[in-house]
Amino acid sequence: ATVPTITLNDGATIPQLGFGVWQVPAEDAEKVVAEALKVGYRHLDNAAVYGNEEGVGRAIAASGVPREELFITTKVWVNDFKAGNTKQALRTSLEKLGVDYVDLYLIHWPSPADEAYLDAWKAMEEMQAEGLIRSIGVSNFLPEHLDRVVEAGTVVPAINQVEIHPALQQREIQEANERHGIKTQAWSPLAQGAVFEDEPVKAAAEAHGVSPAQVVIRWHLQRGRILFPKSVTPERIASNFDVFGFELSEEELSAIDGLERDGRTGPNPGEFNPS
Ligand code: NAD
Repeated sequence: ATVPTITLNDGATIPQLGFGVWQVPAEDAEKVVAEALKVGYRHLDNAAVYGNEEGVGRAIAASGVPREELFITTKVWVNDFKAGNTKQALRTSLEKLGVDYVDLYLIHWPSPADEAYLDAWKAMEEMQAEGLIRSIGVSNFLPEHLDRVVEAGTVVPAINQVEIHPALQQREIQEANERHGIKTQAWSPLAQGAVFEDEPVKAAAEAHGVSPAQVVIRWHLQRGRILFPKSVTPERIASNFDVFGFELSEEELSAIDGLERDGRTGPNPGEFNPS
């Protein structure tokens, strides 16, 4: 399958469909990511705080896939950037992943109480200039946090990665991203399974002879978002990637748009202030 790519505001391109590894146990990461690479995924969404970068790195090394064919993302967690350790955190991630650069580095969470994320941003701009990162971006940023980074920084974030699925669509955040030329990545794109019984999802799955997960993945793709569903089950890893042989109609897409219900699965960035 040829995965469509999206061009970012810095000229880089990213495969629209990737593979996420949150909650993949460290001891399984190598096997699970090897499976994903075998199936054809080339975009991997990681984070230091997921605790499994070493396993991911082993899978990358063993796969033989040329580095330039991969799009590797990782993220700096709040404790590191609050302590002024953004650069050290990236070096540690590069070492664990076994790569010389990442394609995308994200501030994982804004932790807005003290605006330390602005210092992290400056460090990331410098590391981008040094060639250690191709694109820099943010995650879980509300419109006001985006405004602060754009105002204070020199580089506009390429990406804002936020929770988006049929039950939580974050239209205001998506609009703020667009205003700044920032592309939206959807985390927990399947709502961790919570929307598979919803009528429009089931109906489209039956109509196209596919699974509810495949319908939801198609909905994101056709709405222009970047996503990276997670699974540790080989059949699901494969079927979540096998989504280029059918297309949802505009009616099917709008019916899924109608499932919005503040069905948040994770913490609300407006309330959660991690350290
Ligand atoms: P997801 O919506 O991708 O759901 C994954 C779960 O859905 C699986 O554990 C499984 O239970 C189920 N599932 C997957 N494929 C299925 C299939 N084909 N059939 C039936 N059930 C299936 O949720 P996620 O893992 O939370 O999110 C995906 C990725 O997003 C993460 O791995 C991570 O990379 C990223 N993420 C980022 C943040 C952030 O703060 N930036 C937060 C959460 C997740």
